[in-house]
Amino acid sequence: MLHIGCHLSSSKGFAAMGKTALSLKADTFAFFTRNPRGSKAKAIDPRDVEAFKALWPAYGTIPLVAHAPYTLNPCSSKEEVRTFARETIADDLAKLEAIPGNYYNMHPGNHLGQGAEQGIALIAECLNAVLSPDQSTTLLLETMAGKGTEVGRTFEEIRELIDRIDAREKVGVCLDTCHIWDGGYDIVNHLDAVLTEFDRVIGLDRLKAVHLNDSKNPLGAHKDRHEKIGEGQIGLAALGRVVRHPALKDLPFILETPNELPGYAHEIEMMREAAETGSHE
Ligand code: FE
Ligand code: FE
Ligand code: ZN
Repeated sequence: MLHIGCHLSSSKGFAAMGKTALSLKADTFAFFTRNPRGSKAKAIDPRDVEAFKALWPAYGTIPLVAHAPYTLNPCSSKEEVRTFARETIADDLAKLEAIPGNYYNMHPGNHLGQGAEQGIALIAECLNAVLSPDQSTTLLLETMAGKGTEVGRTFEEIRELIDRIDAREKVGVCLDTCHIWDGGYDIVNHLDAVLTEFDRVIGLDRLKAVHLNDSKNPLGAHKDRHEKIGEGQIGLAALGRVVRHPALKDLPFILETPNELPGYAHEIEMMREAAETGSHE
């Protein structure tokens, strides 16, 4: 069965997210660890985790995909910005141990003109300071669209970053379909070739989750504007092939499309149908 969910508001805690996710027929979900500006985060309440465990059938089997604030920049040229990113990630990873065994996804960073090489060095420095071989959370590096000076537009950049991390066994990759399409990887016409390339450069064993999004823009646009499933330039047929692909089909798929909850329920149903029947070929 396809494992799919969407991004949910974490403001009311895990049990509330679990109830919402069940009402959408999701069996995983994503959430921000704190508000996207990256300010204060409350500790995870163990009673809330217990309540979530009691109502969530997939507890401990299908990982949830937490998302770091997207405003963090561990490769800023400013030391205080890097320090803030490092402290926030460390704090999030510590808090997530209250709900062990899940994923923590982050955007690698923006090199701001220092060059990808320097960006990668600074991100690795940050991650080497926060990752521990004892943590139960796997940190996922997200493939990026290459907007502005984003690091992680190519599989090579992600690979180089992973190579510089000591606790590499705690690191995986989250593939965002909108981002790689915008980054120039043609998943509409050459999905097999793109995944072969991913395997050659990074290794499919590192691929832990997929952000399933359509894109408002054409291949290689480097824009990063998500679209509803089937309403963008990637399209439902291609995204159906993504969820059915043997290398991907067992991963958690997260929708980050511009939707309210009913729109997500509709997309989850549509993708479950596409996964089962292939009827949207
Ligand atoms: Fe993201
Ligand atoms: Fe994403
Ligand atoms: Zn995006």
